[in-house]
Amino acid sequence: MKYFSTNNPNHKVSLAEAVIKGLAPDNGLYMPERIPVLPQDLMMEFSEMSFQEIGYAIISALFSEDLSASQIRELVDHTLTFDAPLVQVEEDVYSLELFHGPTLAFKDFGARFCSKLMSMLVEKSSKTLRVLVATSGDTGSAVANGFLGVDGVEVIILFPKGKVSPLQEKQFTTLGQNITALEVDGVFDDCQTLVKQAFLDGDLNEKLLLTSANSINIARWIPQCLYYFYAFSRLPKIGKKVVFAVPSGNFGNLGAGILAERMGLPIDHFVAATNVNKVVPDYLNGAAFQAQPSIPTVSNSMDVGNPSNFPRLITLFGGDENLFKEKVKGYFYNDGDTVKAIQLVQSKGYTLDPHGAVGYLGLKDFMVENPGYVGVFLETAHPGKFRDVVEEALGEKLELPERLAAFLEGEKKVIPMGKSFAEFKGFLEGFV
Ligand SMILES: *Cc1c(COP(=O)(O)O)cnc(C)c1O
Repeated sequence: MKYFSTNNPNHKVSLAEAVIKGLAPDNGLYMPERIPVLPQDLMMEFSEMSFQEIGYAIISALFSEDLSASQIRELVDHTLTFDAPLVQVEEDVYSLELFHGPTLAFKDFGARFCSKLMSMLVEKSSKTLRVLVATSGDTGSAVANGFLGVDGVEVIILFPKGKVSPLQEKQFTTLGQNITALEVDGVFDDCQTLVKQAFLDGDLNEKLLLTSANSINIARWIPQCLYYFYAFSRLPKIGKKVVFAVPSGNFGNLGAGILAERMGLPIDHFVAATNVNKVVPDYLNGAAFQAQPSIPTVSNSMDVGNPSNFPRLITLFGGDENLFKEKVKGYFYNDGDTVKAIQLVQSKGYTLDPHGAVGYLGLKDFMVENPGYVGVFLETAHPGKFRDVVEEALGEKLELPERLAAFLEGEKKVIPMGKSFAEFKGFLEGFV
């Protein structure tokens, strides 16, 4: 299968090129040239199949021209090492818990799939693949943990000294093996500038195989469709229409849900739920799409003013904006609403994180306006990951999950780095 750029349908590349390049040269996002539709009778069987078995079926439909059956199994097995349980919160309302991976957020799915796929695609190359990642926290931890111990790939994480929370820092500075953390004496933008300069440096790219693993890469984006199929298969069969509510920032997760729907999963509607960074809800409610500076909120992994996956959403609807606006309803909430939702749902015996809270609110508003649905909201992070906000909302202490607490015991190992590109380049050239 070939992949085309959202900026130019005639620019088509192989899977390997789309994954290693990440972004098309014209700055477009790669998309599969053909979206396979799964037979209905196969999907009927999903309720009897494991998450992994569902994964093989879907990944085979997308990648069987490029990967062998055993590679597909290896890829899915490496990705789905943890469950995504569907938990009932109230009548007709379910939480899809995507936080049971190593860094307690849904990005673990994409990062694990991406790492394994990259290592398969460079297997024949004599060069080691070097993944450069600039992070202000979350991306670094998901990517580092996803790539940990994967053959043929070295990960170099750049983070701003003193600007990342101690717990987040521990999640990518204590791992060792093929993960190296550079503590940059600067801010996040300095880290990002160094990475961008490295990709543009002809000399460096001749000697080294460099790539990024950012969230617009198809290898991070596509596997996110798996848990929509899985969750759907676990819903009670009560004949109601199904709506999925997705707390969104860059809109990769929602886009993957739409991909699942395009592959034949009968999701009736989607809710695009955001915090006050509401460019997409505004667009869905009739305004022109207009990027904005981002605004800090309590659901800070969604503080995005210029959602990078937006062109992918339009492309999934074949450019038909009316179809898009019919299928996806937009809602947004401020921090006060978010905190109140955490408190309300706690009283029902379920603890939300601030991102899941935004999804819950969107789902409830949709269901009030459109009776007769059964709804699922995506719980994208463990509440313990946003402990400060959740503890303040609830007025009580949260227990830190064991696998998060375990990171705190590891020893931080970093290489100090200045802001100059010459220093960074020197480091990369000398890195073996
Ligand atoms: C990244 C992230 C989001 C937003 O996901 P997108 O795919 O960028 O829309 C939501 N919640 C959490 C916890 C995240 O880390």
